[in-house]
Amino acid sequence: MTRRHGSLTARRNCAERTSPRRTHASSWCKRKVVLLNPSELFSVESQIVLITGGSRGIGRAIAEGFAAANATVVICSRDADSVERAVSSIGGNASGMACDVSQPDQVKRTVQSVLDQHGRIDTLINVAGVNRRKPAESVTVEDYDFVMDTNLKGAFVMSLEVGRHMIERKSGTQINIESLNTWMPLKGVLPYAVSKFGMQGMTKALALEWGQHSVRVNSLAPGFILTDLTKKLWSDPTMQKWNEQNAPLGRLGQPEDMVGTAIFLASPASAFMTGQTLFVDGGFSAGWSWPIPPE
Ligand code: NDP
Repeated sequence: MTRRHGSLTARRNCAERTSPRRTHASSWCKRKVVLLNPSELFSVESQIVLITGGSRGIGRAIAEGFAAANATVVICSRDADSVERAVSSIGGNASGMACDVSQPDQVKRTVQSVLDQHGRIDTLINVAGVNRRKPAESVTVEDYDFVMDTNLKGAFVMSLEVGRHMIERKSGTQINIESLNTWMPLKGVLPYAVSKFGMQGMTKALALEWGQHSVRVNSLAPGFILTDLTKKLWSDPTMQKWNEQNAPLGRLGQPEDMVGTAIFLASPASAFMTGQTLFVDGGFSAGWSWPIPPE
């Protein structure tokens, strides 16, 4: 089949037949997809993008990536000063506000404020996350609540607040940040692992219900990424050596490694994808690296 890059007339009713060379549609479907050129396919230009946990680490890198792609970025995190610093370094159309996602009232106020200011939210990215590392038998209810309230309840409240608005508009994309823990739990992070498994459940459950409203929900699962959250762990030389020997791509990830996949999930390039988790992990989830004994 000869492929031509079409214009942004993305969807039409199947009854309106165009050249079969330009469509993937079969006769029974309601819609046909006209091929876009690559810059349109991966475009997030003019989108209004709300990113929780956008002041540091992975969230900040994703915010910078979307701003560079001409999206209007709104970030939030608990600390107003770091939000302000991040906004001025992101530049472009970025803005931000303090919001603790573990507090439902603050989440509601934040969403309303973005809607008042920008009129819509095209993409929500739930990045805000915390962790407490300790053996399972030492985990307290307070540890559990601390991690779950931000990582899962915070994302849940945010997703629903923004989701209601997206359903009304019949358009929108949500991206949740999971972890290698949703492929296989790691030792010493029980509440975190529970929260990330929950995140995957939420991604799939929302995708099932909201597909009919043209609202897509997917997850990005980072591997081992060097950020404030993990710097204590990865400054241990034993851990560095372990990573070098076991990471298929032989290095730790950088927050910037997450940007391309986040943009893909927010763009028309992933229009037929929902309820999925994409692992961006240097190959860790491909399988175990085990020492093969010489024959
Ligand atoms: P960082 O600690 O570097 O950044 C966390 C961000 O979340 C900060 O902006 C922080 O700002 C914000 N945040 C934390 N708690 C809250 C809250 N209650 N409300 C609002 N914002 C909050 O972490 P990473 O960048 O490493 O992690 C980002 C996400 O990626 C997390 O969900 C994490 O689980 C996930 N992840 C990270 C991996 C890694 O190796 N680094 C691997 C897999 C997943 P502030 O403190 O001002 O609130």
